[in-house]
Amino acid sequence: MRYRVLIIGGGTAGITTAAALRRKGVEDIAIVEPSETHYYQPAWTLVGAGVVPRESTARPQAQVMPKGVAWIRDRAKSFDPVAGAVETEAKGRIEYDFLVVAPGLQLDWGRVEGLVDALETPQVSSIYDYRRASETWEMLRGVESGHVLFTCPPMPIKCAGAPQKIAYMMADHLSRGGRRARCELSYATALPVIFGVKEYAEKLVAIAARHGIDVRYQHNLVSVDGATREATFAVTRDGETHTESIPYEALHVVPPQSAPDFVQQSPLACPDGTGKGWMEVDQHTLQHPRYDRVFGLGDVTTTPNAKTGAAVRHQVPVLVENLLARMRDRALPGSYGGYGACPLVTGRGKMLLAEFDYTGKPTPTLPIDTMRERYSMWLLKRYALPWAYWNLMMRGIV
Ligand SMILES: Cc1cc2nc3c(=O)[nH]c(=O)nc-3n(C[C@H](O)[C@H](O)[C@H](O)COP(=O)(O)OP(=O)(O)OC[C@H]3O[C@@H](n4cnc5c(N)ncnc54)[C@H](O)[C@@H]3O)c2cc1C
Repeated sequence: MRYRVLIIGGGTAGITTAAALRRKGVEDIAIVEPSETHYYQPAWTLVGAGVVPRESTARPQAQVMPKGVAWIRDRAKSFDPVAGAVETEAKGRIEYDFLVVAPGLQLDWGRVEGLVDALETPQVSSIYDYRRASETWEMLRGVESGHVLFTCPPMPIKCAGAPQKIAYMMADHLSRGGRRARCELSYATALPVIFGVKEYAEKLVAIAARHGIDVRYQHNLVSVDGATREATFAVTRDGETHTESIPYEALHVVPPQSAPDFVQQSPLACPDGTGKGWMEVDQHTLQHPRYDRVFGLGDVTTTPNAKTGAAVRHQVPVLVENLLARMRDRALPGSYGGYGACPLVTGRGKMLLAEFDYTGKPTPTLPIDTMRERYSMWLLKRYALPWAYWNLMMRGIV
Protein backbone atom coordinates (compact mmCIF):
# COMPACT_ATOMS: atom_id res chain seq x y z
CA MET A 1 0.00 0.00 0.00
CA ARG A 2 1.22 3.48 -0.81
CA TYR A 3 -0.43 6.89 -0.43
CA ARG A 4 0.47 10.45 -1.37
CA VAL A 5 -0.42 11.59 2.19
CA LEU A 6 -0.70 9.15 5.09
CA ILE A 7 -2.23 10.45 8.32
CA ILE A 8 -1.78 8.59 11.61
CA GLY A 9 -4.80 9.14 13.87
CA GLY A 10 -8.36 10.13 12.94
CA GLY A 11 -9.08 12.29 15.98
CA THR A 12 -9.53 16.05 16.02
CA ALA A 13 -6.24 16.80 14.26
CA GLY A 14 -6.22 13.91 11.77
CA ILE A 15 -9.77 14.41 10.47
CA THR A 16 -9.51 18.20 10.29
CA THR A 17 -6.20 17.96 8.41
CA ALA A 18 -7.52 15.37 5.94
CA ALA A 19 -10.66 17.40 5.25
CA ALA A 20 -8.66 20.62 4.82
CA LEU A 21 -6.25 18.88 2.41
CA ARG A 22 -9.19 17.56 0.38
CA ARG A 23 -10.55 21.14 0.18
CA LYS A 24 -7.21 22.12 -1.38
CA GLY A 25 -7.63 19.38 -3.98
CA VAL A 26 -5.10 16.90 -2.56
CA GLU A 27 -5.89 13.32 -3.58
CA ASP A 28 -4.72 9.90 -2.47
CA ILE A 29 -4.98 10.50 1.30
CA ALA A 30 -5.37 7.71 3.87
CA ILE A 31 -6.00 7.84 7.62
CA VAL A 32 -4.91 5.03 9.93
CA GLU A 33 -7.42 5.03 12.81
CA PRO A 34 -8.44 1.99 14.89
CA SER A 35 -11.49 3.45 16.67
CA GLU A 36 -15.03 3.00 15.29
CA THR A 37 -16.15 6.05 17.28
CA HIS A 38 -15.04 9.67 17.12
CA TYR A 39 -15.33 11.74 20.32
CA TYR A 40 -15.76 15.43 21.01
CA GLN A 41 -13.69 15.32 24.19
CA PRO A 42 -14.13 18.99 25.28
CA ALA A 43 -17.75 18.20 26.24
CA TRP A 44 -16.71 15.48 28.71
CA THR A 45 -16.40 18.19 31.36
CA LEU A 46 -20.10 18.90 30.86
CA VAL A 47 -20.89 15.15 30.89
CA GLY A 48 -19.11 14.85 34.25
CA ALA A 49 -21.18 17.75 35.56
CA GLY A 50 -24.48 16.23 34.41
CA VAL A 51 -25.14 18.95 31.80
CA VAL A 52 -25.08 16.82 28.63
CA PRO A 53 -25.42 13.05 28.06
CA ARG A 54 -22.18 11.32 27.07
CA GLU A 55 -23.79 9.97 23.88
CA SER A 56 -23.99 13.53 22.55
CA THR A 57 -20.16 13.60 22.45
CA ALA A 58 -19.73 10.52 20.24
CA ARG A 59 -20.37 9.85 16.55
CA PRO A 60 -19.50 6.92 14.29
CA GLN A 61 -16.00 7.42 12.87
CA ALA A 62 -17.42 6.64 9.41
CA GLN A 63 -19.58 9.77 9.67
CA VAL A 64 -16.65 12.17 10.16
CA MET A 65 -14.27 10.49 7.70
CA PRO A 66 -13.93 13.02 4.83
CA LYS A 67 -15.20 11.92 1.42
CA GLY A 68 -12.44 10.66 -0.85
CA VAL A 69 -10.15 9.71 2.05
CA ALA A 70 -9.28 6.03 2.62
CA TRP A 71 -9.89 4.86 6.19
CA ILE A 72 -7.44 2.15 7.23
CA ARG A 73 -8.99 0.56 10.34
CA ASP A 74 -5.75 -0.32 11.99
CA ARG A 75 -3.24 0.82 14.58
CA ALA A 76 0.17 2.21 13.65
CA LYS A 77 2.96 0.50 15.57
CA SER A 78 6.27 1.84 14.20
CA PHE A 79 7.78 4.39 11.81
CA ASP A 80 10.51 4.03 9.23
CA PRO A 81 10.96 7.68 8.20
CA VAL A 82 14.11 7.02 6.16
CA ALA A 83 12.28 4.59 3.88
CA GLY A 84 9.01 6.54 4.13
CA ALA A 85 6.87 3.79 5.65
CA VAL A 86 4.69 3.01 8.66
CA GLU A 87 4.15 -0.46 10.10
CA THR A 88 0.63 -1.21 11.31
CA GLU A 89 -0.60 -4.02 13.55
CA ALA A 90 -2.86 -5.87 11.11
CA LYS A 91 -2.17 -4.65 7.58
CA GLY A 92 1.59 -4.41 7.83
CA ARG A 93 3.69 -1.89 5.93
CA ILE A 94 2.17 1.24 4.39
CA GLU A 95 4.34 3.59 2.35
CA TYR A 96 3.85 7.31 1.89
CA ASP A 97 5.16 10.35 0.05
CA PHE A 98 4.24 12.57 3.01
CA LEU A 99 3.30 11.69 6.56
CA VAL A 100 1.15 13.56 9.10
CA VAL A 101 1.43 12.22 12.65
CA ALA A 102 -1.61 12.92 14.88
CA PRO A 103 -2.33 10.02 17.28
CA GLY A 104 -2.93 12.29 20.30
CA LEU A 105 -1.49 11.36 23.68
CA GLN A 106 -1.84 8.41 26.04
CA LEU A 107 -3.37 8.43 29.51
CA ASP A 108 -0.98 6.74 31.96
CA TRP A 109 -3.47 5.48 34.57
CA GLY A 110 -0.96 2.81 35.60
CA ARG A 111 1.65 5.37 36.66
CA VAL A 112 -0.36 6.10 39.83
CA GLU A 113 -0.11 3.07 42.11
CA GLY A 114 -3.48 1.48 42.87
CA LEU A 115 -5.41 3.85 40.57
CA VAL A 116 -6.53 1.23 38.04
CA ASP A 117 -8.15 -0.82 40.85
CA ALA A 118 -9.49 2.24 42.67
CA LEU A 119 -11.27 3.39 39.50
CA GLU A 120 -13.45 0.29 39.83
CA THR A 121 -14.84 1.62 43.13
CA PRO A 122 -17.81 4.03 42.96
CA GLN A 123 -15.87 6.74 44.84
CA VAL A 124 -13.19 7.30 42.16
CA SER A 125 -13.71 8.57 38.63
CA SER A 126 -12.41 10.79 35.81
CA ILE A 127 -13.78 12.91 32.99
CA TYR A 128 -10.71 11.97 30.91
CA ASP A 129 -12.47 8.82 29.69
CA TYR A 130 -15.74 8.59 27.75
CA ARG A 131 -17.34 5.92 29.95
CA ARG A 132 -16.04 7.35 33.21
CA ALA A 133 -17.23 10.87 32.36
CA SER A 134 -20.85 9.85 33.01
CA GLU A 135 -19.78 7.77 36.02
CA THR A 136 -18.19 10.97 37.34
CA TRP A 137 -21.61 12.58 37.38
CA GLU A 138 -23.11 9.56 39.19
CA MET A 139 -20.29 9.76 41.74
CA LEU A 140 -20.52 13.51 42.31
CA ARG A 141 -24.30 13.74 42.50
CA GLY A 142 -24.30 10.96 45.10
CA VAL A 143 -22.10 12.88 47.58
CA GLU A 144 -24.03 13.96 50.68
CA SER A 145 -21.14 15.01 52.91
CA GLY A 146 -17.38 14.60 53.40
CA HIS A 147 -14.23 15.40 51.51
CA VAL A 148 -14.38 15.66 47.71
CA LEU A 149 -10.89 15.69 46.25
CA PHE A 150 -9.84 16.71 42.71
CA THR A 151 -6.33 16.11 41.35
CA CYS A 152 -4.17 17.56 38.59
CA PRO A 153 -0.98 15.77 37.40
CA PRO A 154 2.30 17.32 36.19
CA MET A 155 2.19 19.02 32.78
CA PRO A 156 1.89 18.54 29.89
CA ILE A 157 -1.68 17.25 29.75
CA LYS A 158 -4.52 17.91 27.33
CA CYS A 159 -6.77 20.76 28.39
CA ALA A 160 -4.90 21.83 31.50
CA GLY A 161 -8.01 23.66 32.72
CA ALA A 162 -10.29 20.59 32.80
CA PRO A 163 -9.05 19.25 36.21
CA GLN A 164 -10.27 22.42 37.94
CA LYS A 165 -13.38 23.03 35.78
CA ILE A 166 -14.99 19.88 37.16
CA ALA A 167 -14.22 21.07 40.72
CA TYR A 168 -16.02 24.38 40.10
CA MET A 169 -19.00 22.55 38.59
CA MET A 170 -19.17 20.30 41.66
CA ALA A 171 -19.00 23.25 44.09
CA ASP A 172 -21.82 24.92 42.18
CA HIS A 173 -23.89 21.73 42.15
CA LEU A 174 -23.49 21.25 45.92
CA SER A 175 -24.44 24.87 46.63
CA ARG A 176 -27.60 24.61 44.54
CA GLY A 177 -28.55 21.38 46.30
CA GLY A 178 -28.00 22.89 49.78
CA ARG A 179 -25.23 20.39 50.62
CA ARG A 180 -22.20 22.66 50.25
CA ALA A 181 -21.78 23.24 54.01
CA ARG A 182 -21.59 19.49 54.67
CA CYS A 183 -18.77 18.98 52.16
CA GLU A 184 -15.14 19.96 52.04
CA LEU A 185 -13.68 20.49 48.54
CA SER A 186 -9.96 20.37 47.70
CA TYR A 187 -8.05 20.78 44.46
CA ALA A 188 -4.63 19.14 44.74
CA THR A 189 -2.36 20.08 41.88
CA ALA A 190 1.18 18.96 41.07
CA LEU A 191 1.90 22.51 39.88
CA PRO A 192 3.07 25.49 41.92
CA VAL A 193 0.34 27.65 40.32
CA ILE A 194 -3.35 27.16 39.54
CA PHE A 195 -2.89 28.03 35.82
CA GLY A 196 0.16 28.69 33.65
CA VAL A 197 -0.81 32.19 32.49
CA LYS A 198 -0.58 34.77 35.28
CA GLU A 199 -3.50 36.95 34.18
CA TYR A 200 -5.91 33.98 34.27
CA ALA A 201 -4.31 32.43 37.36
CA GLU A 202 -5.20 35.52 39.41
CA LYS A 203 -8.85 35.23 38.36
CA LEU A 204 -8.96 31.50 39.01
CA VAL A 205 -7.49 31.79 42.50
CA ALA A 206 -10.32 34.20 43.33
CA ILE A 207 -12.93 31.88 41.75
CA ALA A 208 -11.63 28.86 43.72
CA ALA A 209 -11.77 30.95 46.92
CA ARG A 210 -15.34 32.04 46.13
CA HIS A 211 -16.33 28.39 45.80
CA GLY A 212 -14.55 27.61 49.08
CA ILE A 213 -12.17 25.18 47.35
CA ASP A 214 -8.94 24.53 49.23
CA VAL A 215 -6.18 24.68 46.58
CA ARG A 216 -3.15 22.57 47.53
CA TYR A 217 -0.12 23.26 45.36
CA GLN A 218 2.77 20.91 44.51
CA HIS A 219 0.69 17.85 45.43
CA ASN A 220 1.51 15.10 42.94
CA LEU A 221 -0.76 12.05 43.24
CA VAL A 222 1.38 8.90 43.61
CA SER A 223 -1.06 6.27 44.88
CA VAL A 224 -4.70 5.62 45.64
CA ASP A 225 -6.10 3.05 48.05
CA GLY A 226 -9.68 2.42 46.96
CA ALA A 227 -10.39 0.20 50.01
CA THR A 228 -9.42 2.74 52.69
CA ARG A 229 -10.34 5.74 50.47
CA GLU A 230 -7.00 7.43 50.78
CA ALA A 231 -5.06 9.34 48.14
CA THR A 232 -1.32 9.74 48.68
CA PHE A 233 0.63 12.65 47.25
CA ALA A 234 4.30 13.54 46.90
CA VAL A 235 4.18 17.02 48.39
CA THR A 236 6.97 19.49 47.73
CA ARG A 237 7.42 22.26 50.28
CA ASP A 238 10.48 24.52 50.66
CA GLY A 239 12.47 22.32 48.29
CA GLU A 240 11.76 19.13 50.29
CA THR A 241 9.43 16.35 49.12
CA HIS A 242 7.48 14.11 51.51
CA THR A 243 4.37 11.98 51.16
CA GLU A 244 1.00 12.90 52.57
CA SER A 245 -2.21 10.83 52.58
CA ILE A 246 -5.57 12.52 52.27
CA PRO A 247 -8.86 10.69 52.95
CA TYR A 248 -11.71 11.22 50.49
CA GLU A 249 -15.41 10.58 50.13
CA ALA A 250 -15.16 11.07 46.36
CA LEU A 251 -12.03 11.41 44.24
CA HIS A 252 -11.76 12.88 40.74
CA VAL A 253 -8.44 11.93 39.13
CA VAL A 254 -6.72 13.30 36.03
CA PRO A 255 -4.03 10.78 35.04
CA PRO A 256 -0.44 11.59 34.05
CA GLN A 257 -0.09 11.82 30.27
CA SER A 258 2.62 11.16 27.69
CA ALA A 259 3.15 10.59 23.98
CA PRO A 260 1.88 7.14 22.86
CA ASP A 261 4.52 4.43 23.48
CA PHE A 262 4.95 3.70 19.75
CA VAL A 263 5.85 7.36 19.19
CA GLN A 264 8.17 7.50 22.19
CA GLN A 265 10.05 4.45 20.91
CA SER A 266 10.34 5.78 17.35
CA PRO A 267 12.95 7.85 15.49
CA LEU A 268 10.37 10.66 15.36
CA ALA A 269 10.53 11.21 19.13
CA CYS A 270 12.42 14.12 20.63
CA PRO A 271 15.58 12.54 22.12
CA ASP A 272 16.16 14.89 25.08
CA GLY A 273 15.17 18.06 26.92
CA THR A 274 11.70 19.06 28.10
CA GLY A 275 10.06 17.58 24.99
CA LYS A 276 11.72 14.17 25.44
CA GLY A 277 9.54 11.35 24.07
CA TRP A 278 7.00 13.61 22.34
CA MET A 279 6.98 13.81 18.54
CA GLU A 280 9.55 16.39 17.53
CA VAL A 281 8.43 19.18 15.21
CA ASP A 282 9.54 22.73 14.58
CA GLN A 283 7.19 24.74 16.79
CA HIS A 284 6.37 27.18 13.98
CA THR A 285 6.38 25.08 10.77
CA LEU A 286 5.17 21.78 12.37
CA GLN A 287 7.68 19.90 10.20
CA HIS A 288 9.96 17.25 11.69
CA PRO A 289 13.51 18.68 12.03
CA ARG A 290 15.23 15.54 10.70
CA TYR A 291 12.68 14.07 8.27
CA ASP A 292 11.34 16.76 5.97
CA ARG A 293 8.48 14.67 4.53
CA VAL A 294 7.04 14.27 8.02
CA PHE A 295 4.74 16.74 9.80
CA GLY A 296 2.93 16.50 13.13
CA LEU A 297 0.20 18.31 15.03
CA GLY A 298 -2.22 17.97 17.92
CA ASP A 299 -1.50 16.60 21.37
CA VAL A 300 1.39 14.33 20.31
CA THR A 301 3.97 17.00 19.47
CA THR A 302 6.69 18.83 21.40
CA THR A 303 5.18 22.26 20.67
CA PRO A 304 4.86 24.08 24.02
CA ASN A 305 1.28 25.33 23.47
CA ALA A 306 -1.79 24.38 25.49
CA LYS A 307 -2.75 20.92 24.19
CA THR A 308 -6.29 21.67 23.03
CA GLY A 309 -8.65 21.31 20.10
CA ALA A 310 -8.45 25.09 19.84
CA ALA A 311 -4.71 24.77 19.17
CA VAL A 312 -5.43 22.16 16.48
CA ARG A 313 -7.80 24.62 14.79
CA HIS A 314 -4.90 27.07 14.45
CA GLN A 315 -2.32 24.42 13.55
CA VAL A 316 -4.23 22.85 10.66
CA PRO A 317 -4.08 25.80 8.22
CA VAL A 318 -0.35 26.20 8.93
CA LEU A 319 0.38 22.52 8.44
CA VAL A 320 -1.68 22.34 5.25
CA GLU A 321 0.02 25.42 3.77
CA ASN A 322 3.47 24.06 4.65
CA LEU A 323 2.75 20.55 3.43
CA LEU A 324 1.52 21.91 0.09
CA ALA A 325 4.69 24.02 -0.17
CA ARG A 326 6.87 21.00 0.66
CA MET A 327 5.09 18.99 -2.06
CA ARG A 328 6.22 21.67 -4.54
CA ASP A 329 9.72 21.88 -3.04
CA ARG A 330 9.16 25.45 -1.93
CA ALA A 331 10.12 27.19 1.33
CA LEU A 332 7.55 26.71 4.11
CA PRO A 333 5.52 29.92 4.46
CA GLY A 334 3.20 29.03 7.38
CA SER A 335 4.05 29.79 10.99
CA TYR A 336 2.09 28.69 14.07
CA GLY A 337 2.36 31.13 16.95
CA GLY A 338 1.29 28.75 19.72
CA TYR A 339 -2.37 29.77 20.02
CA GLY A 340 -4.33 27.66 22.46
CA ALA A 341 -7.58 28.30 24.28
CA CYS A 342 -9.20 26.95 27.38
CA PRO A 343 -12.91 27.55 27.95
CA LEU A 344 -12.94 27.61 31.77
CA VAL A 345 -16.43 26.82 33.03
CA THR A 346 -16.59 28.15 36.57
CA GLY A 347 -20.13 27.06 37.45
CA ARG A 348 -23.40 26.29 35.67
CA GLY A 349 -24.04 29.18 33.27
CA LYS A 350 -20.62 30.78 33.79
CA MET A 351 -17.45 30.67 31.77
CA LEU A 352 -14.35 32.69 31.04
CA LEU A 353 -12.28 32.02 27.96
CA ALA A 354 -8.51 31.83 28.33
CA GLU A 355 -6.72 32.40 25.01
CA PHE A 356 -2.94 32.72 24.78
CA ASP A 357 0.08 31.83 22.64
CA TYR A 358 3.76 30.86 22.98
CA THR A 359 4.57 34.18 24.60
CA GLY A 360 2.22 33.29 27.48
CA LYS A 361 0.29 36.51 27.02
CA PRO A 362 -3.51 36.59 26.65
CA THR A 363 -4.48 36.76 22.96
CA PRO A 364 -8.24 37.41 22.97
CA THR A 365 -9.95 36.84 19.62
CA LEU A 366 -13.51 37.94 20.51
CA PRO A 367 -14.67 41.56 20.67
CA ILE A 368 -15.78 41.28 24.34
CA ASP A 369 -13.88 40.92 27.61
CA THR A 370 -13.68 37.12 27.81
CA MET A 371 -11.48 37.28 30.92
CA ARG A 372 -14.71 37.93 32.88
CA GLU A 373 -17.11 35.10 33.69
CA ARG A 374 -20.02 35.40 31.30
CA TYR A 375 -23.26 33.60 30.46
CA SER A 376 -22.62 34.24 26.76
CA MET A 377 -19.34 32.30 27.03
CA TRP A 378 -21.20 29.42 28.68
CA LEU A 379 -23.54 29.34 25.67
CA LEU A 380 -20.44 29.26 23.46
CA LYS A 381 -19.13 26.19 25.30
CA ARG A 382 -22.49 24.46 25.63
CA TYR A 383 -23.83 25.02 22.10
CA ALA A 384 -21.64 26.97 19.65
CA LEU A 385 -18.32 25.14 20.01
CA PRO A 386 -19.76 21.61 19.65
CA TRP A 387 -21.74 22.77 16.62
CA ALA A 388 -18.63 24.32 15.07
CA TYR A 389 -16.65 21.16 15.80
CA TRP A 390 -19.00 18.75 14.05
CA ASN A 391 -20.05 21.06 11.21
CA LEU A 392 -16.95 23.11 10.46
CA MET A 393 -13.75 21.56 11.86
CA MET A 394 -14.66 18.02 10.84
CA ARG A 395 -15.24 19.38 7.32
CA GLY A 396 -11.87 21.10 7.23
CA ILE A 397 -13.27 24.60 7.69
CA VAL A 398 -11.01 26.24 10.26
C1 LIG B 1 -11.82 16.12 29.60
C2 LIG B 1 -11.27 16.89 28.44
C3 LIG B 1 -11.65 18.21 28.26
C4 LIG B 1 -11.14 18.94 27.19
N1 LIG B 1 -11.57 20.23 27.01
C5 LIG B 1 -11.15 20.94 25.94
C6 LIG B 1 -11.68 22.23 25.69
O1 LIG B 1 -12.52 22.73 26.43
N2 LIG B 1 -11.23 22.91 24.60
C7 LIG B 1 -10.30 22.35 23.74
O2 LIG B 1 -9.96 23.01 22.75
N3 LIG B 1 -9.78 21.12 23.96
C8 LIG B 1 -10.19 20.40 25.03
N4 LIG B 1 -9.71 19.13 25.24
C9 LIG B 1 -8.54 18.64 24.45
C10 LIG B 1 -8.86 18.14 23.04
O3 LIG B 1 -9.86 17.16 23.07
C11 LIG B 1 -7.57 17.57 22.44
O4 LIG B 1 -6.55 18.52 22.57
C12 LIG B 1 -7.75 17.21 20.97
O5 LIG B 1 -8.70 16.19 20.83
C13 LIG B 1 -6.40 16.81 20.37
O6 LIG B 1 -6.55 16.27 19.10
P1 LIG B 1 -5.63 15.07 18.57
O7 LIG B 1 -6.13 14.75 17.22
O8 LIG B 1 -4.21 15.43 18.79
O9 LIG B 1 -5.93 13.86 19.55
P2 LIG B 1 -7.29 13.03 19.64
O10 LIG B 1 -8.46 13.87 19.27
O11 LIG B 1 -7.28 12.41 21.00
O12 LIG B 1 -7.16 11.92 18.52
C14 LIG B 1 -6.13 10.97 18.47
C15 LIG B 1 -6.61 9.82 17.58
O13 LIG B 1 -5.51 8.96 17.29
C16 LIG B 1 -5.95 7.63 17.36
N5 LIG B 1 -4.81 6.77 17.63
C17 LIG B 1 -4.20 6.52 18.83
N6 LIG B 1 -3.21 5.63 18.68
C18 LIG B 1 -3.15 5.33 17.36
C19 LIG B 1 -2.33 4.46 16.59
N7 LIG B 1 -1.38 3.70 17.16
N8 LIG B 1 -2.55 4.38 15.25
C20 LIG B 1 -3.53 5.11 14.66
N9 LIG B 1 -4.34 5.95 15.35
C21 LIG B 1 -4.16 6.06 16.69
C22 LIG B 1 -6.98 7.63 18.46
O14 LIG B 1 -7.88 6.53 18.35
C23 LIG B 1 -7.68 8.97 18.24
O15 LIG B 1 -8.79 8.86 17.39
C24 LIG B 1 -10.22 18.34 26.28
C25 LIG B 1 -9.85 17.00 26.46
C26 LIG B 1 -10.39 16.28 27.52
C27 LIG B 1 -10.00 14.83 27.70
